[in-house]
Formats: sequence, C-alpha cells, structure tokens
Amino acid sequence: MTRFSGDLFDGVTSRAHPVTAWIEAGRLHIEGDGIALTLPLDAIGLAPPVGAARGVVHLPDARELHSTDLAALAALAQALPSRDPERWARRLESRLGYALAALLVSVLVMFAGLRWGVPAAAQLAAHTLPAGLDSRIGRESLALMEKISFQPSALPAARQQALAQQLAARCRQQACPPYRLLFRHSPMFGANALTLPGGTVVVTDALVDLAQHDEEILAVLAHELGHVQHRHSLRLALQGIGAGAILVAVTGDIGSVTDLAAGLPSLLLQSGYSRDMEREADAYALAWLNAACIPPQRFADLLGRLDKKSSGTPSLLGSHPGTQERTGPFQVAGDCT
Ligand SMILES: [Zn+2]
Repeated sequence: MTRFSGDLFDGVTSRAHPVTAWIEAGRLHIEGDGIALTLPLDAIGLAPPVGAARGVVHLPDARELHSTDLAALAALAQALPSRDPERWARRLESRLGYALAALLVSVLVMFAGLRWGVPAAAQLAAHTLPAGLDSRIGRESLALMEKISFQPSALPAARQQALAQQLAARCRQQACPPYRLLFRHSPMFGANALTLPGGTVVVTDALVDLAQHDEEILAVLAHELGHVQHRHSLRLALQGIGAGAILVAVTGDIGSVTDLAAGLPSLLLQSGYSRDMEREADAYALAWLNAACIPPQRFADLLGRLDKKSSGTPSLLGSHPGTQERTGPFQVAGDCT
C-alpha cells in the first residue's frame, strides 16, 4: 500500500501533527516529527468519510489520524479485519435510493421525536441528572425571577411562619420530598404557587389571601410537593430547550444550565405543566391530604375560587385539564383513618 499523509491528534491537545502513514506486514505505521507508531490493525477503527469530509482513523489511547486521502482510507478499510460494522453504512450512503428513504425516515423520526421524544427524553433526563444540577437550575431561575417577577411578601412574618410550620408539622408525620417554602408578592403570577427545580416552592401573597382556610393552602402545597416529587419543573425546563440540548445537558455541558434556568420562568408563566404532570401532582396531593387528615375538598374549594378569578394565566390550575374534571376526585369525603 502506498503511503498517505494526514494529521495525527494525540487525544490530549487539539494540535495536529502532520504525519505519513502506511500499512506494512499487517500493521499500520505512522511517522512524523518525533512520532513513530506501529499499531496492529485490529486495534484501530475507521469512521467512514461522509460526503467530502476527511476520514478519521481511531487509534488506541483516544488518538486520531485524520486524512483527506479518501482512496488511501478506502484501501485501509479493505485491509481492516471485517469486524468494521460501519462498512454497510458506507455502502448505503453510496446509493441514492437508500439515501432518500433514509431522509424520509429521518424526517418522520424527527417529527415523532418532537411530538413524543422530547417529553420522554426530558422525563428520562430529569431522573438521571444529578440532584445537584436540579438545585443549581432552581437557584438560577429563582435569582432571575427575584429580579423580574417577584417582590418581597407583604404577609406578616408571623403569618408566613405559621403556614411554614403547619407544612413542616405534616411533613414530620409523613414523607415529603425535600422542599424550601418561600412567600412572594407577584402581580405577574397572580394567585399562584410554583415549584422550581431542586424543591423550591413559591407561594404568592394573592394565593394566601384567596384562601379561606389554612388547609386550602396546605392542599395547594401538597399539589406542589407532587411537582417536586416528580421533578416536573426540571422536566418542563428540559422540554423547553428541546431534544438536542437535553442531550448536551445530560452529557454534562454545564453552560446549558444557565439556558435551562433562563427559560423556565416564561415556561411556567406561559405554557405551564402538561395535563399528565398536573394529574400526577393531583394524585400525589390526594394521597398526601388523606394521610394528613385534611379533607380533599379543601383543594377543590380553592381551585374553584381560582377558576372564577382566573384571567387566562396558567396557574397551579393550568387551564387544563378542566377544573371540573380535576376537582372531581377531591370532592369526596377524605378516607382519613
Ligand atoms: Zn400544578
């Protein structure tokens, strides 16, 4: 085989080292300035050149040999042991019919991916991302919302404390996910409660004012704890950035944390949680209220009042599923024992 030229990357730095390579006696030889490698063919892999791009020969220790000499790379591919699973892909790429069919399949897969894949990927990612990342996204979202949508609560400190203590007391009696409760005044969010990644639950003054019984507030908090438990706000943030970025987030690009945090406030404000997420949080709340001996009707009462008052902003109600449908399961006598 004739010699061909390329660039060697050492897998440590991004510097390209010009080299000459050839196969001799069943081994790949690479030589350059201060470089002399002899590698068995079964230790190397070949990524097929797609279109006119350069081909990449994968070498042990994360080193790579890049070359634009496609003829030489084709010869190298022939010389490699037949385990090369990518050979069929090259054959497919070379045929237009297959390429067009593949394009059609790609479009369909992309469509299906956006429709079903993004929520599924977000759900999966939400449960695989390390917990520390949740908290970080939550902190950044909160910092942003403190600037644009929250003002300090006007509720007396004693009132805030009393509500926080009631929740804490219930959470000593039954398992609650880790949470942090905050009270804020927010004309933007109206009478509302929202959950941020990492377990921060924010209750607005207007919601507290709307409630006619503290147990109604606890019922809403139970619903928010359902969102905490199922990591819904992280899922919402992930869905907002789409499938590609989810992948980046999962593979650990920390820069995307800021994107996630930045997008969350408007997602919470504009689209809110999906119907399924609200149902999950409702189911959690119903079980929680029964365990806490709080009549589930309290939740239905507050939701009904919110519904009358709602001005189209997605609230903890969401605009869906319908309030009627949602409050049905709560309009029962509790099965407190
Ligand atoms: Zn909700």
